Amino acid sequence: MYEDHYIFTPGPVKMSQEILDIGSIQTPYFRNPEFSRVVYNCEQGLIDIVNAPKGSKVIFLTASGTAGMESVVMNLLNNDDNALVVNGGGFGARFVDICNTHEIPNTNFKVKNTNLSDIDILAPQGEFSALVVNAHETSVGCLYDVTALGDYATQHNMLHIVDAISMLVTDDLDMQKSHIDVVIASSQKGFALPPGLTMVVLSPKAIERLQTVKSLYFNFKDYLSNGERGQTPYTPAVTIMLQLEARLKQIEKRGGISQSIASAKEVAEYFRSSLEGLPIKLTTLFMPNAMTALTPTDGKSALDIVNDLERNYKVMVCPNGGDERETIFRVSHMGEVDKAYTDVLIDALFDYYKVSRN
Ligand SMILES: *Cc1c(COP(=O)(O)O)cnc(C)c1O
Repeated sequence: MYEDHYIFTPGPVKMSQEILDIGSIQTPYFRNPEFSRVVYNCEQGLIDIVNAPKGSKVIFLTASGTAGMESVVMNLLNNDDNALVVNGGGFGARFVDICNTHEIPNTNFKVKNTNLSDIDILAPQGEFSALVVNAHETSVGCLYDVTALGDYATQHNMLHIVDAISMLVTDDLDMQKSHIDVVIASSQKGFALPPGLTMVVLSPKAIERLQTVKSLYFNFKDYLSNGERGQTPYTPAVTIMLQLEARLKQIEKRGGISQSIASAKEVAEYFRSSLEGLPIKLTTLFMPNAMTALTPTDGKSALDIVNDLERNYKVMVCPNGGDERETIFRVSHMGEVDKAYTDVLIDALFDYYKVSRN
């Protein structure tokens, strides 16, 4: 449908030909040692990318990212907890909804225009047992200072749960440095794979805290025991796991995770600096490499710009949700995008505004 479009949406993102090709092969049978090796390779690759502490394990769920968020809440929190949930937009609000759905006592910590590096001052007073955050609040394009959050969580003896879905591969995340106990990842953002695979990295401390859940499919203990033989309890997203294994190798071949982060940073900075001369400003101060949020300064509707870019230039960007759809639009730098690819979007914006690009 969008074969000939230029893709700058924050998930699904532009995929490489190598990964697309794997999607076209016959899905293999998976209850065998060959596929167990794929699972082990994926687990080790993920552990390396987030620098998980020794003894960490990865759970592979055939589901979208929200299932990762919900199952982590279900398996790690109960009604004796009081979760401090950072809510800086749609995904933070989703964590609050999940806690409420599962009757987990929580404090809705609403934030705006901050990366929380001074969380000590900003956090509400109270006794909290867990800190729950989306490292990159994708709805607004704000990246939090997870190391400051980790220091705060450690000082207050809180479990540190991080949804890193929209910043892994493009932005740095280090479980050990930032004292993170749980990381949630998903296939369709920086990993640049099809949607459908969600991964949860559990530190030994998190594994110790796993509880008995009222759920068959989302019982992490069951995933851990099957994981020992490189399997999942139920049919995994076999093809996406083959693609993940190849993607992890691709990241290695290209110079490792630090190189992937550096190249996302380079593209993001190139894009932002190329906008000079256009009536558009950067919306937030604390942007990740993964994404740029933009606000038109000439009163033009952001939604009209998004629609026009798609219709007339075959360039896909994304409006903000809710009331902000008229004022803010978002451009992803995740996936198989380089400066030349990004030039197509920059040229389209200059053409749209009838300003010549120098
Ligand atoms: C995309 C995203 C998710 C996952 O959303 P799904 O639609 O369930 O895959 C979760 N958290 C953040 C921060 C995201 O950007």
